[in-house]
Amino acid sequence: MSETYTLYNSTVMDHFMHPRNMGDLKDADGVGEVGAAACGDIMKISLKIKDGKIEDARFKTFGCGSAIASSSMATELIKGRSIDEAMNFTNQEVVDALGGLPPVKIHCSVLAEEALKAALEDYIRKHPETASKLQTPVPAAA
Ligand SMILES: [Zn+2]
Repeated sequence: MSETYTLYNSTVMDHFMHPRNMGDLKDADGVGEVGAAACGDIMKISLKIKDGKIEDARFKTFGCGSAIASSSMATELIKGRSIDEAMNFTNQEVVDALGGLPPVKIHCSVLAEEALKAALEDYIRKHPETASKLQTPVPAAA
């Protein structure tokens, strides 16, 4: 048994070995890219947004197994959600859906939340008319 199998549960391994929604979206409405120094993970999430809802999501992750599993799970979870719902998305939801992550790898799920929010902010910047309809305050651009 390799160390990987003792560290990660079968759901995490499944999303790592068979990632969902991997790649780029052509004509994405919002794209967010973030990085974490600890693992050297880089995560990019592309969103297709229609009628205020996330119609499709893709990710590209350059990083550790937890980062890949987290972005795979995050893109699955957010499809069909409204922008407001997605703005309130937290990494805990990813961790729960994955059945837990090792404590040292929690930050990889935080990266998925940050990449999603960066993509939403990108969308709102490009579509300022949507901001006034949101219940969630839009964070100031970094
Ligand atoms: Zn990582």
